[in-house]
Amino acid sequence: MSSRDGEPRHTRYRQRRKPDARPPDLASLRASLGPPLRPERTQARPESGAKAGDPRAFCYRCHKAEVVCLCSRIRVAANRTGILIFQHPRERFHALGTARIAALSLERCRILGARWSAAGVGLAFEPPARTGVLYPGTGSTPLGSLEPDERPDHLVVLDGTWAHAHSLYRDNAWLQRLPHYALNPSEPSRYRIRQEPRTECISTIESIVCALKILEPETTGFSHLLNVFDSMIDDQIRFHCEREVGGAVSGR
Ligand SMILES: [Zn+2]
Repeated sequence: MSSRDGEPRHTRYRQRRKPDARPPDLASLRASLGPPLRPERTQARPESGAKAGDPRAFCYRCHKAEVVCLCSRIRVAANRTGILIFQHPRERFHALGTARIAALSLERCRILGARWSAAGVGLAFEPPARTGVLYPGTGSTPLGSLEPDERPDHLVVLDGTWAHAHSLYRDNAWLQRLPHYALNPSEPSRYRIRQEPRTECISTIESIVCALKILEPETTGFSHLLNVFDSMIDDQIRFHCEREVGGAVSGR
């Protein structure tokens, strides 16, 4: 079975609510986000009314449930190339999203949140000079083929499923005007529980790390982002298995 955006339902992380749990209040979640992320932000702020150890508690820094909070694993890398993560609205609170890991782990990284409108899904944005977009296809230049002085100073990375990325690209003319670049990832995706449609498809954070390693091979610390990503996938698999076992034991 597939969801409307093309992802198999069984690959999605689905949280089982307790009978007395209320639906998330998106207005308060948005209000809590505040200004663009800065790596020096400190401790997670617990959900109002949530007690320590409550499985419903939410970390507003990494946007994960507190039981799988990633904040203590984050290390900041001093990247030179600015990363602009253009995020589809459906990706913002996805349990398996990776944009927040990148934003917390890179000194120069911003999340640009797209919004729904009558014109589609988009954002009015004026990209800085020497910005390119990572978007494979005809006319895209492999990043690895660029000379050092040809490399972009800023790189837009689209965050969402491939259908989401297509919508973002289609509905935002400023993206279409940017130089287009492509990756040739040497390894298959590590995304073990959120299937990608083609073997060359990789997650947002894998794309960012792959691009930065090409653009600035002298900068260290990028591989640690993938360690955090791997640990997130391990956590999700472990908690999914525990829920399955718990459900089987209780006869659900
Ligand atoms: Zn956290």
